[in-house]
Amino acid sequence: MITSKPVCVTGASGFIAAHIVRELLAKGYSVRGTVRNSPGNYPYLLGLPGASDRLELVEAELLSDGAYDRAVEGCDYVMHTASPYEINVKNPQTDLVDPAVNGTETVLESCLKSGGVKRVILTSSIAAITDEPESMKVFTEKDWNTMSSLDRNPYQYSKTLAERAAWDFIMRKRPRFDLVSINPTMVAGPSLGPSLNTTNRMIRDIMKGVFPGIMDINWGFVDVRDVAKAHILAMENDTASGRYLCSAETMHMNALVALLKSSGFDAYPLPKIDLSGKVGTLFMKGLSFTQPRDTGMFIRTNIGRTARYDNAKIKRELGLSFMPVKESIIETVKDMVTWGHLPPQKK
Ligand code: NAP
Repeated sequence: MITSKPVCVTGASGFIAAHIVRELLAKGYSVRGTVRNSPGNYPYLLGLPGASDRLELVEAELLSDGAYDRAVEGCDYVMHTASPYEINVKNPQTDLVDPAVNGTETVLESCLKSGGVKRVILTSSIAAITDEPESMKVFTEKDWNTMSSLDRNPYQYSKTLAERAAWDFIMRKRPRFDLVSINPTMVAGPSLGPSLNTTNRMIRDIMKGVFPGIMDINWGFVDVRDVAKAHILAMENDTASGRYLCSAETMHMNALVALLKSSGFDAYPLPKIDLSGKVGTLFMKGLSFTQPRDTGMFIRTNIGRTARYDNAKIKRELGLSFMPVKESIIETVKDMVTWGHLPPQKK
């Protein structure tokens, strides 16, 4: 253990953050998590092993000035995970960009005021690295998303602006703490809480037959427990620095559907028609205009492209090893059935 002071985790109720809290408690750390509602609303956090003695939940909202002063007070380490993760929103500026960017600055201001923080670990995203895959390119930590906007993949835009704002803050204010960012690709895995995360919802939608066919689309995936470990390694490893692209493997939709079928989930209405050829891609691009606006945009900017992500830095510098994505996906599906997000399949 590198600190006996509480580790602050913002947005502790979230899919990734709850796993960070669990892992921190399991390693003997004390945790101060921020939530948006009364702490009693989070029994899945309060019931974690070690929580009764070492977990404190405090209320904080990203859009209130000074909201995190109390949360970071007396902490050496702050993990800032809170940020809206939604693809289709009414107003991208107020629903995504403002809480992501202003919230990040608010948390960093609180860390500056506290005087004692040594390091902030920011949960950024592959979204801050690229808006779309490029078939001939392997993306690394050196890449920045320069394409997203309020009209084009606004979630990706919010994450890019938020991470940029964090690095700018460090440049401008030269605080005593340093900043490390973790940039995961799609995070799958079992959930500690009852909400259905946006990434797991995408897997659920594939299983519920929402997509008409198998598209030429592939994603980088990483298990939520590995993402939690990455945050803790970034805290514990004194020499950690800069950005860490956190992706285990990429998987094509073809392989994902084949995995689900061969893993005994074949009674779900999985997509059957193969639309992964050139004609299918053209058809899907056209059809994407009938989808909710930002889902359609995501399809158009990702379809027909191969995603490649370099995870060498996080393995080499933080010593992170990844669980196989296939295992993670299968556990995700079983977990969604347990939480009632997916009906048990009828055989
Ligand atoms: P999540 O389950 O939706 O968690 C988001 C967290 O942010 C929740 O605790 C939420 O609180 C909090 N939050 C949202 N708006 C807030 C506001 N205005 N004030 C205070 N708290 C607010 O999503 P997640 O997947 O765990 O995402 C956590 C972080 O990882 C995000 O920064 C996301 O961009 C990043 N990320 C996620 C993925 C992925 O595939 N899941 C991949 C890459 C990066 P409530 O519970 O009250 O809503």
